[in-house]
Amino acid sequence: MNECIFCRIAAGELAADVIARNDVAIAIRDLNPQAPEHALVIPVKHADNLGDYVAIAGAAEVGGLLSLASQVGRSASPSGHRIVVNEGGDGGQTVHHLHLHVLAGRRMTWPPG
Ligand code: 5GP
Ligand code: ZN
Repeated sequence: MNECIFCRIAAGELAADVIARNDVAIAIRDLNPQAPEHALVIPVKHADNLGDYVAIAGAAEVGGLLSLASQVGRSASPSGHRIVVNEGGDGGQTVHHLHLHVLAGRRMTWPPG
């Protein structure tokens, strides 16, 4: 059995609060939100991180992933949003299946921590 939690969520084997989906990705609510609106946009195809995904996925898949994240962000708030991808230890990645964080509903600060 696939042990990757985001593969299992994308396959419908584990429960999640699904916001939207398209041909290549699914958007769910984060279990531990860091903003009033915090979604994760997860490609159905497994890749550990963004660098691996762009190496294995076609341009249409990468575009579909970004498109869903942008759509979710714009739907979440008319006054803006932030899209974040963490990669590796220094990037703060804890789940090793690529996901885009879409944060909205409060004023973001810069630089990020
Ligand atoms: P990372 O630190 O890898 O960039 O982000 C992982 C994110 O996944 C975290 O924001 C964490 O709250 C979220 N997360 C971890 N496990 C689950 C889960 O089983 N369901 C959902 N919806 N979110 C999860
Ligand atoms: Zn996976």
